[in-house]
Amino acid sequence: MEEDIRRVGIMGGTFDPIHQGHLVAASEVADRFGLDEVIFVPTGQPWQKADEPVSPAEDRYLMTVIATASNPRFQVSRVDIDRGGPTYTIHTLRDLRAEYGAKVQLFFITGADALAKILSWKDLDEVFELAHFIGVTRPGFRLSDAHLPADTVSLVQVPAMAISSTDCRARVSRGEPLWYLVPDGVVQYIAKRRLYQK
Ligand code: ATP
Ligand code: MG
Repeated sequence: MEEDIRRVGIMGGTFDPIHQGHLVAASEVADRFGLDEVIFVPTGQPWQKADEPVSPAEDRYLMTVIATASNPRFQVSRVDIDRGGPTYTIHTLRDLRAEYGAKVQLFFITGADALAKILSWKDLDEVFELAHFIGVTRPGFRLSDAHLPADTVSLVQVPAMAISSTDCRARVSRGEPLWYLVPDGVVQYIAKRRLYQK
């Protein structure tokens, strides 16, 4: 029966660190699409970022847990971290599908920048079979579903948050404040673990 199907959002990211842009996007899509939960999935070693140093997976995982803890609909999954190796979305979707079984509909949430690169993803046909894609607006990037199958992608306008993890890391290394760009607990965790300092 239709009402037995859980609607589950997936928000993949490096989350180095997680910031309010990620949280607003997930919250907005959850509301708009009536999602029962959103699972945040920190990547293992991201293949697009193989040349750039990325913080340890456990630090990125813990920051994601801290940032999402207060929202009963937000969860964090370790599938990509525990699998090890480079993260491909096809593996994330297969693992979550195996974990949740057939009684879920998966919605993969992605920002305009990541959506623009989706055609280069591994096993794209199967990726689109496993989840419906939701592209969200992001300041500085054009949101477009050109070249993507219309019935598998929705585009959603979310409140503009001109925040990136890259900018957050640069701010910390320059000694500038992170308050209100990331949740308070994440500011404190970054200071405690001395992340992003030169
Ligand atoms: P980095 O600068 O290190 O690439 P980032 O801010 O882009 O970090 P990611 O972890 O790479 O964060 O992004 C995870 C997902 O969240 C991607 O789909 C990305 O497009 C989306 N996203 C990130 N920041 C925003 C934002 N400010 N508004 C909307 N979507 C965002
Ligand atoms: Mg990014």
